[in-house]
This record gives sequence, structure tokens and C-alpha cells, in this order.
Amino acid sequence: MNLGISVYGMNRGISVQEAIRRLGDGEVIAIPTETVYGLAASVQHPDALASIYTLKGRPKDNPMILHGASVDQLLPFVEGWSEAHQACADAFWPGPLTLILRASEQVPSIVTAGLDTVAIRIPNHPMALEILEHIGPLAAPSANLSGSPSATKASHVLDDFGNAVAVVDGDQAAIGLESTVVWAVDSPWRILRPGVIGADEIGHEANIMVNPTPSHHVPAQPAEADQTPLSPGTKYRHYTPMARVMWLDLNQIEAASIAPVQPRLFVVTHTEDRRSQIQTLTQKHPSMLHQHAGSLDMLAKHLYEWFREADQRNTDTIFIEGFEATTPLGLSLTNRISKTIG
Ligand code: AMP
Ligand code: MG
Repeated sequence: MNLGISVYGMNRGISVQEAIRRLGDGEVIAIPTETVYGLAASVQHPDALASIYTLKGRPKDNPMILHGASVDQLLPFVEGWSEAHQACADAFWPGPLTLILRASEQVPSIVTAGLDTVAIRIPNHPMALEILEHIGPLAAPSANLSGSPSATKASHVLDDFGNAVAVVDGDQAAIGLESTVVWAVDSPWRILRPGVIGADEIGHEANIMVNPTPSHHVPAQPAEADQTPLSPGTKYRHYTPMARVMWLDLNQIEAASIAPVQPRLFVVTHTEDRRSQIQTLTQKHPSMLHQHAGSLDMLAKHLYEWFREADQRNTDTIFIEGFEATTPLGLSLTNRISKTIG
């Protein structure tokens, strides 16, 4: 496998070797992971870490996840590493699980936004791992402008940052949703942000109590915004396209079809029944855009891409076919979609 060759653009995509060099020089670059693309800077370069916040327009009180290639690389940055943490590392890393532990003195305060805890993860992407092995831990929040959907393709990074950020193209993110974030500082552990790895699995592997988050976690209202939640990022409205997002309702689509001026609709389905119903309705509503995911896995993989596409096409409303959230993936999707519905 030649990890040095980028398939992305003439000038925009940089090789893994080039990424290592630039990160070592204190540059901010975007790297692929299996969840979403990350906007990365070396933990050794405080100025680069600070410019991640500026580039993203990220609130200064929202800490970043520290990514490493191995547990050994991350251990100096945490306190209180226990058998339970190791069991999680063995079971889920590299993978879409972020553990929060007490931060050691080695963690620059810009990474933790001044908190005494730090979030750590080993991403499961060969290019990210190769970069991390060479350059050491990187702080990397999602590679999108604050308030936009996370970037799941190299082209999304370019859309948000243009020439300001070089990107390593590692293809479309395999999962497409951000990692599970777990408070693992003291017992019981708890899920601060749901992801594809669920509370039960983590509890089982770590042999510890893990409290799940409510499935319909609604973002904090302005009145609550002053309170400091355990995970500062959860108080902000993330993942929000410009278009209104709603759960699919065929009656509303019927009504929109006979309106004097048809609104621009973008419909996302995942079951065959809904797919064919929407295809029929498209005859009455020719401007309606339709994407069929076919499964919840594919809905997760493409959700942010379709949010971005809907906005590029000046969509008024995005309709997403509802589902029962019975798995960690379903719960994470509900969490992200509910946030966009507000
Ligand atoms: P992002 O990388 O943009 O997907 O966001 C990282 C998420 O992890 C945000 O929701 C942060 O608030 C959360 N996070 C990072 N570090 C910590 C920490 N030390 N304590 C609690 N939450 C954290
Ligand atoms: Mg983010």
C-alpha cells in the first residue's frame, strides 16, 4: 500500500510524508479518520493548537480530542489509567471511542480549554495512524467551520477552509459520525456524546457501570448556556445545515407539491417502501431531490455529506425518514439529527 499518494486534487491533497513534515513545522492540516476528518496540530506546537480555534471559529471553552497512535503514546498525558481503561483500549482501539481522563501536566491547557481532564482516542485509519506514529499526539477537532456539519470527505475540508488548510485525502470517512465520548474519570462512567460504540458494550468490556445519554438529547437552551456541562461541546448547536431539517412526513410533501411555489425539498430515505413512495411523489414535485441510504449505516456515512449538498442546492427543507433507535448507531443518528431539528 502506498500511503504517500493522494488521489485528491492537484494541489490540495498532500501525502502522508508531507503531512508529517508540515505538522512537525507547526502547521495545522486536515487528516482523515474513520469517524470524520480532523483539523490537526501537534501537541508540541502551542501556536498551531491555538490557530485551530481561530480557523474553525471554535469557542475557546470547547476542548479538543488528543489523538495518538498507541496507548504508550497517550499515557504520559493522562492520570489514573486503570485496568478498565486498558480493557477499553484493547477492545475498541483503534476505533471510534474517546475516553476522558484526568489530564497530566504535560497536556497544554489550550487542548483542554483549561479543564483538568483530557479526551483521548486512537483513530482507526491507516493514514492517520502512520502520521501519528511519526509525529506523536495531535489535537484534532472535526475539520469543519464551527456550526457546519463535520467534514466526511477531503472536499468538505476544502469547501470550509479553502487554501488555508492542506488535507490528506483518505477517502470518505467509513463511519461518518463523531466518536463516542465517555466520561471515564470516576465511577459511574457516562456517555457524554453517543457514537457507534454503545454504553452496554463499553460497560461489558471495562466491567464498569456506564450510564447512557438520553436518546433525544436536545441542545442546551440559551438559559442553560452559562452552566458548564461535563462536555462543553454538547452545549453548542453542532451539525446544523442552513436548511430546515424535519422527520419525513409524506403529507407535508404532498402539501408542498401543490403549493403555488414549490419549496425546494431534499428527501433522505432508507427503507424500500419510502424510497418508492418518494419516487412516485417526485413526478408531482420535479425539483425534489432524493437520496436513498438503504441502511442506517449508510445514512450515518452520508448524513453530513447530504446536509452539505442540500445547502449547496439552496434547499428549504431536508426530510429524513424516521426510524426506531434501538442500536448505538441508531441512537447516535437520532442524537445528531435531533440537534439539527433543534
Ligand atoms: P469534535 O472533535 O469537534 O468532534 O469535538 C470533541 C468533543 O469532545 C466536544 O464535544 C468536546 O466538548 C468533547 N471533549 C473534548 N475534551 C473534553 C474534556 N476534557 N472533557 C469533556 N469533553 C471533552
Ligand atoms: Mg466538531
